[in-house]
Amino acid sequence: MTKRTIFVANAVLNGNEKKYVNDCLDSGWISSHGKYVEEFEKKFAVFCDTKCAVSCCNGTVALHLSLLGQDVGPGDEIIMPTLTYIATANAVRYCGAKPVFIDSDAETWNINPDLIEEKISKRTKGIIVVHLYGHPVDMDPVLKIARDNNLFVIEDAAEAHGALYKNKVVGSLGDAGSFSFYGNKIITTGEGGMVTTNNQLLAEKIRTLKGQGVDPNKRYWHSVVGYNYRMTNIEAAIGLAQLENIGWHLQKRREIAGLYNKYLACLQEYIHLPVEKKWAHHAFWMYSVLLKDNVRLSRDEFITELQDSGIETRPVFYPMHVLPPYFEKNAHYPVAEKIAARGINLPTHATLTKEDIQFISETIEKICNT
Ligand SMILES: *Cc1c(COP(=O)(O)O)cnc(C)c1O
Repeated sequence: MTKRTIFVANAVLNGNEKKYVNDCLDSGWISSHGKYVEEFEKKFAVFCDTKCAVSCCNGTVALHLSLLGQDVGPGDEIIMPTLTYIATANAVRYCGAKPVFIDSDAETWNINPDLIEEKISKRTKGIIVVHLYGHPVDMDPVLKIARDNNLFVIEDAAEAHGALYKNKVVGSLGDAGSFSFYGNKIITTGEGGMVTTNNQLLAEKIRTLKGQGVDPNKRYWHSVVGYNYRMTNIEAAIGLAQLENIGWHLQKRREIAGLYNKYLACLQEYIHLPVEKKWAHHAFWMYSVLLKDNVRLSRDEFITELQDSGIETRPVFYPMHVLPPYFEKNAHYPVAEKIAARGINLPTHATLTKEDIQFISETIEKICNT
């Protein structure tokens, strides 16, 4: 007998994805030119309320292009949270620059703006904020620090399509926004990414860089070292169909978060539930909980118990400063370390049923009480 597994994420392709992909196949427009690339970029810019959106082949590359767009290079320091997915730090390293880490805010798990200024040096060039797991960063203090110190701000919104900060869409608040459309993200193209910005010159520069640095007015004339970081028309076709339904995808996630909040409310002596600040509209890429000290099991034991009941979950990311490429001896980021040691992402996707959430919550209750 095979036991059913409830997966932590699941791509839901229930709109025009197949129709648009078949159109690419039938027409032969399967590479990185084609109407879907243009259409997806145009509609994504509208969705993010930005003047421009430039597609690319994944979210890591979207970050790399955003940094190249600001001329980040060797010797520069870029401030970013230690608690994030490794792509944020890697993109900085690809430019030859140094990531400088900041501890998290205990409630939102995002970069703590109060700790930024003490890490600014003569070499600091910009700040990357990460809207972690879908909760927006408290942007006003970050933007003020950036203005006062002449720094750029890039928003890593890979996990937060459609999240709002004070009613403004993430990706429209800094100098550039960076998105991922990997298979487990809020909307997907399989692999894919996007840079959003209100700065038309910056968008053109990024467009040139992602297309081998070719001069838009002179074929085979390359004035800079560029990259082949393009998105295909097939990926964009999937993305456009996903974007047409993004309201539904986001609504489903909110419903699921609401159900978890309801069924887990009685367990608050054991677990912290995710916070949604007054100024925030959470996109709930992941519904993430934190085990309190009176849960006797380790986080990894807790995950194993859930797995034994057919529930797939994920640990929160390791903070960057403990990973080999970015290891900092004797460094302490106590809030991020605590979240990383005790945090769990619960299944969060549009095909979960009320019964699934009930079952997951009851299983968590049983584990807490043993
Ligand atoms: C997924 C993710 C990325 C990278 O996106 P890819 O499309 O996988 O390259 C970058 N930053 C964060 C925070 C992410 O979650």
